[in-house]
Amino acid sequence: MTTSFAHIETLDELASIASGCVKCSLAPSRTNVVFGSGSPDAEVMIVGEGPGQQEDEQGLPFVGRSGQLLDTLLGEIGLQRSDVYIANVVKCRPPRNRDPRPDEIDACKGYLRRQIELIDPAVVVTLGNFSTKLLLRTEVGITKMRGVAYEWWGRYLVPTFHPAAALRGGERVTNDIRADLALVRAVIDGRLPSGIREDSGESTADQGGVTDDDDSQLDLFGDAP
Ligand code: URA
Ligand code: SF4
Repeated sequence: MTTSFAHIETLDELASIASGCVKCSLAPSRTNVVFGSGSPDAEVMIVGEGPGQQEDEQGLPFVGRSGQLLDTLLGEIGLQRSDVYIANVVKCRPPRNRDPRPDEIDACKGYLRRQIELIDPAVVVTLGNFSTKLLLRTEVGITKMRGVAYEWWGRYLVPTFHPAAALRGGERVTNDIRADLALVRAVIDGRLPSGIREDSGESTADQGGVTDDDDSQLDLFGDAP
């Protein structure tokens, strides 16, 4: 069951609640809850998967090698770390960096939902499969989903590869991320590139299950009890 934080009015208050969270099985092994960091007024919000070792130790998102690459690629579209807000699907490190489990994602997603509502960014960028599948409510993989901006809850969502995939996959993956970040730049510049489409009609997201009556447990914006 997802806890609603609709009554929480500031990120600081939400972060302070998360700092003591024991709602899922990731709590006992964490060093720090990695709530998120950056500008509370960011136009661009980036959503990763979950903290790794260095993030767990420092309590900050994307401070390891993936984070360095992310900073470089953001810099290429003229964005600094302090311009954006960065968070993850799960706020506590999965042991040995295993994938977060559905029950853990379900327990944690209320924080992410409220972060998005409070920051109210113009664009959400999902990095990799976990954040993309959660927010677009799809089972379609990132390779198929990326390359376009989706209209999403009154803003845009741009899915792209996780920087860790670029570190493994080399220049081709890195260039795909560059192309996706160019869409992000276009959205915040108010240019509507031809790649933009709505998440209705014939989009891949629809085929993956973006429907109003989708009651899967990854239905982030569904009416959780
Ligand atoms: N990978 C993620 O998904 N998030 C982090 O914060 C660091 C690495
Ligand atoms: Fe709470 Fe999320 Fe950490 Fe689980 S991962 S203990 S739900 S903050």
